Amino acid sequence: MKRLLALLFGAALLAVQAPAQVRHEMRVPDIPGYLTLKGDMHIHTIFSDGTVWPTTRVQECVWEGLDVLCITDHVDGRLQKYTNNGTFSKERVDRNTAYELAAKAAKETGVLIVHGCEITSQIMPPGHFNALFTSDNNPIGKAMDAAGSDNQPKGADDAIRTAKSQGAFMTWNHPHWCRQAPNKTVIYEEHEKYCKEGLLNGVEIYNWWEGYSPEAHHWAVEKGLTLISGTDSHAPMFMDIDFMAGELRPVTLIFAKERSLESIREALDDHRTAVFADGKVYGAGELIRPLLESCLKIERIVKTRTKLSIEIFNDSSIPVTLDKAPGSEEWQMTRHLTIHPFEHYTILVYRLDKNQPIEADAADLNYTVDNFFTDAGVRLPWRLHIDLK
Ligand SMILES: [Zn+2]
Ligand SMILES: [Zn+2]
Repeated sequence: MKRLLALLFGAALLAVQAPAQVRHEMRVPDIPGYLTLKGDMHIHTIFSDGTVWPTTRVQECVWEGLDVLCITDHVDGRLQKYTNNGTFSKERVDRNTAYELAAKAAKETGVLIVHGCEITSQIMPPGHFNALFTSDNNPIGKAMDAAGSDNQPKGADDAIRTAKSQGAFMTWNHPHWCRQAPNKTVIYEEHEKYCKEGLLNGVEIYNWWEGYSPEAHHWAVEKGLTLISGTDSHAPMFMDIDFMAGELRPVTLIFAKERSLESIREALDDHRTAVFADGKVYGAGELIRPLLESCLKIERIVKTRTKLSIEIFNDSSIPVTLDKAPGSEEWQMTRHLTIHPFEHYTILVYRLDKNQPIEADAADLNYTVDNFFTDAGVRLPWRLHIDLK
């Protein structure tokens, strides 16, 4: 009896000590030569109009397996409005506090925190810009405030230039936001000028509120802007993303040489990013093709006289949908398939006449990747090369 009680007590103790942590970790593999870092480059906290404390933002990243976070609280007067107990004093809250709290909390976690802020002119142009890699948000906010709320475009312009003088990486946020682009997503002359002056370096092609912007994606390709995604989340992440239904936070995939802030900045400057959002991947072919090939692991190829069985495992959180493309007419193969995250799939390949022997040194199976886009409406072509020698 004593032994039984001891066993029960031990089991109870174990149950108490067992980690209660539940994680919805997103898995995206590295590609040859680069680490794939998953980042949210646009998010808010209680230090502007969000409802979440900065340390909780870091914990959310840990829980979801994100590597990079940039808290981009609105740098204008609303920060003071929300955080000074209603006194509206413009000097009492430091605009760097959210970053400092997050950076301190992230030290033990491995999440890399980028210092940043959002510069917001409600009037277009310029609209909303994020400054990533700032060194001090206070002069940026003060430049915005100095112009007064009646002159927001001028205040935003001054703030953008102040951020740039700190060496910030500037992104145009949600160009397709219905409040600023009610009928059509438009790029203004001012944005073109910013591009030429080096004051616009990236563009948000995906924002959780508005989803994907094909226009912004196309401008990014055309003008050499870095692809950025942000949740722009103001609430706790679980209120925006339905994790229980299998949803994932939209992320910027940053292909970095090392796991460091310097490497992240270098990757952004070199346009080495992609966006993974809503089950789709957007990016340059030379980045997202190796990403696709890192996701899909060919586990086994079985060849009989008339049949090839190609066993594939999707070792990632990214679904892959393939459609047979021109160039493989001599083969009979699965024409349309989706390999879901962490799923095994076997593609069967025959000659056109099923009884004809395979008799080939290699099989080149041409597919279009239905959910990988290199430009607006342009799907990634992919050749699955199977060596049979
Ligand atoms: Zn915004
Ligand atoms: Zn925002």
